[in-house]
Amino acid sequence: MFLLYRHPLRGGKVHNLDPEKDELLSMGENALFIEHPFDKSNRPNEKDPSLMPWTDVNELPYTICGPYLKDLFERAFIEGLHNPDKRPSAGDWEEGLIKTIDLLHPCENPLCEQKWFVFDNETSPVCPFCGWNNKERFPVLHFYSHRKKGVHSSDNHRFVVHHNRYLYPWHVYRSVIPNEKLAQEYKTPVGYFVHHKNKWIFVNRQLTEMKDLSENKKIPTGSMVELKEGKQIVLSGKENGRVIYTKFL
Ligand SMILES: [Zn+2]
Repeated sequence: MFLLYRHPLRGGKVHNLDPEKDELLSMGENALFIEHPFDKSNRPNEKDPSLMPWTDVNELPYTICGPYLKDLFERAFIEGLHNPDKRPSAGDWEEGLIKTIDLLHPCENPLCEQKWFVFDNETSPVCPFCGWNNKERFPVLHFYSHRKKGVHSSDNHRFVVHHNRYLYPWHVYRSVIPNEKLAQEYKTPVGYFVHHKNKWIFVNRQLTEMKDLSENKKIPTGSMVELKEGKQIVLSGKENGRVIYTKFL
């Protein structure tokens, strides 16, 4: 409800003419996801204008929440709805939400009511709320981290770069998680990205071990580096430290 302003199980299906029994069945034994891909019998009633556009699941399907949350929606409301063991844990949702923040892309249509949308890894991102289409190229960082000596594995975590976006310690280390337990020392940004004269630049404010792997040179604290297609940058050489791989869209 927080993400899409609609209840995932309250749709148009009537299970019993007695409202009390209907409530029990639709929230329990007969519960059915309003966006179930095959059983469409519980699609929401779109007639109430005060609930639009949120009750229009064709226009704003749950998939607009991006790839990480899409997977969790499916485990919670399709596979696991009548099989609690298959549902994601609170920790899975926390991780999905945290990673999704890094996929937020600003919508530059001044009339857009939402201003942000989740980048879905399509080559030409379109804002699902207003149809604005980003035709400019921008970098997406792919995170890798040290697991075994000398080996970097993909973290299945992408980061959409936009002007003035900050990079935080939880991007630098796989082991740092930005939740309520986050230590004070990890709360300040380590650097930021700027779009200047058609170049995408990262300004390193705090990282002491930053290194441009593509050019094999250090990026000292206080200096900057231009992001280019395929550029690989070590954020930290420590255990759990990350390497980024730059891809332009
Ligand atoms: Zn928009």
